Amino acid sequence: MALTVATNLAVETVDWSQLDTILLDMDGTLLDLEFDNHFWGTVIPERWGQERGLDVAASQATLAPLFKEVRGTLDWYCLDYWSQKLSLDIPTIKTGYSEGIRWRPQAETFLRHLNTSHLDVVLITNAHPVTLAMKAERLPLAQWFNHMVSSHDYGAPKETTRFWDTLMAERPFDPERTLFVDDSEYVLDAALAYGVSHLITLRQPDSTLAPREQTRFPAIHHFEEILQGLPDID
Ligand SMILES: [Mg+2]
Repeated sequence: MALTVATNLAVETVDWSQLDTILLDMDGTLLDLEFDNHFWGTVIPERWGQERGLDVAASQATLAPLFKEVRGTLDWYCLDYWSQKLSLDIPTIKTGYSEGIRWRPQAETFLRHLNTSHLDVVLITNAHPVTLAMKAERLPLAQWFNHMVSSHDYGAPKETTRFWDTLMAERPFDPERTLFVDDSEYVLDAALAYGVSHLITLRQPDSTLAPREQTRFPAIHHFEEILQGLPDID
């Protein structure tokens, strides 16, 4: 359920001195969502259709209801689920496309600043552990985090209270002194309901799609908009 109304709220500034923890999403926040959109929107329908004599458009149309059915659940993000459902070796196919895994602009610079700050820097992703490992192998991202969480290890996606309860138990944080950045407003809804006070979304998760004008949460385009107040780096 939407807890806030659509707006084009910009982020004025972040007072880092009021924060102890930053929670960061991966895909669409730190990494370009184009990889995932292309993989699930084109590559997988193409492979699936090849074995059934269907072109990409026909496969996309056939698969759309299957994707829609589990959106927002852990299955939606689960490679095992889709490998079985579609009778495809998804991890192997995904490995073949790993060159498409890219940082979003300024994401690495932002992480370097955070790394020298007082903040506990935690990655929280709905990506499957195999996907997380693949991305961490492709890009040196693990070095920037004090802790990394795949929601599959909790058995509950970020959209659920159970995820937040489990995160709190494993890595305690003060919700009023925590900033969470995620491109998914459904995920931000769950964080807001849990009591996380500082929430930011992204205007352009996928570099090949137009930036979002309207968002329900304060939005940034690039991380330079919130760098002020973080320690300098070389
Ligand atoms: Mg995301």
